Amino acid sequence: MTTAYPVAQAETDRPAAEVAFAAFIRRLIQDASTLQAIDSGEVDAIIDPVSGRAILLPEAREALRQGAAPSNQMLATLSHEEYQRLLAAGLEPVTLAVGDILHEPGELIQQIYFPNAGLLVSLLTTVQNHMAFEIGLVGSEGMVGLPVAQGIDTASVRAVVQGAGTALRMESSRFREALETSPVLQRTLHRYTHALIAQITQTAACNRFHQVEARLARWLLMASDRLQSNPLRFTHEGLADLLGVRRVGITVAATALQQQKLIRYSRGNITVLDRAGLEASACECYQKIKDLFDRAYGGPVRFVEIPLPGQEQGR
Ligand SMILES: [Zn+2]
Repeated sequence: MTTAYPVAQAETDRPAAEVAFAAFIRRLIQDASTLQAIDSGEVDAIIDPVSGRAILLPEAREALRQGAAPSNQMLATLSHEEYQRLLAAGLEPVTLAVGDILHEPGELIQQIYFPNAGLLVSLLTTVQNHMAFEIGLVGSEGMVGLPVAQGIDTASVRAVVQGAGTALRMESSRFREALETSPVLQRTLHRYTHALIAQITQTAACNRFHQVEARLARWLLMASDRLQSNPLRFTHEGLADLLGVRRVGITVAATALQQQKLIRYSRGNITVLDRAGLEASACECYQKIKDLFDRAYGGPVRFVEIPLPGQEQGR
């Protein structure tokens, strides 16, 4: 350990589990400024580099349990009372790792998820003898398990975590019950349903008509809007599967974007260097989908601004 992180005082007065957790965090995080950020409450969750799993810090977990405003934008539309009712009905924080499958096509949707800022979930369609490819992306603007809200309990797509983070989760049956007494949530769900269908429709057209380079730029922008990190961690293979193209197509497209100094790609890390430039390189679908969400939500969807390298703030 080479960190300047101050050892917490009076550790003997703290419960053993809390002391053990603090020691675990100090083993995991070696960087003094990150530790200070955790200490001052600026950080809600950390990613375990070994498991890739996000670990929700105790204070953030407790705050969510106590009903602190969630970063999921659908839940944020609820009144304090409505949100408390959902918590009482079993809405609970959960951490999710890259690769976690929330449901498969044909499976019963046991639980629904409201991603917090930083979590990214892909909705994939599976076609016999082909790789599953992406038809929609869900971040903190949305919900996974939408059919449950429409009275359907079986999934038609695979939902898989692409970016680790936290979510608020609830048993499907209890969610359906809670929904009946929450007109605000019903309204928000209608709006989100409309926006998600529009996103899926636009993605279908995009996959048919647009070049791989423009599609890759569109996808990176959509992903970076929802993730809270720069660089993004994606391999060429993973991106090829998501976009339904051959790996070599992604390599050519990523190389072109890199040569234009819009991104930097190194060992699975994609750093967005020039957001405005990447937007100019993306197909029209990026802005169209963004506008659809803004219209459905009655104002700009509050995605997290990701600082570019060497900048304190986003663009
Ligand atoms: Zn497109």
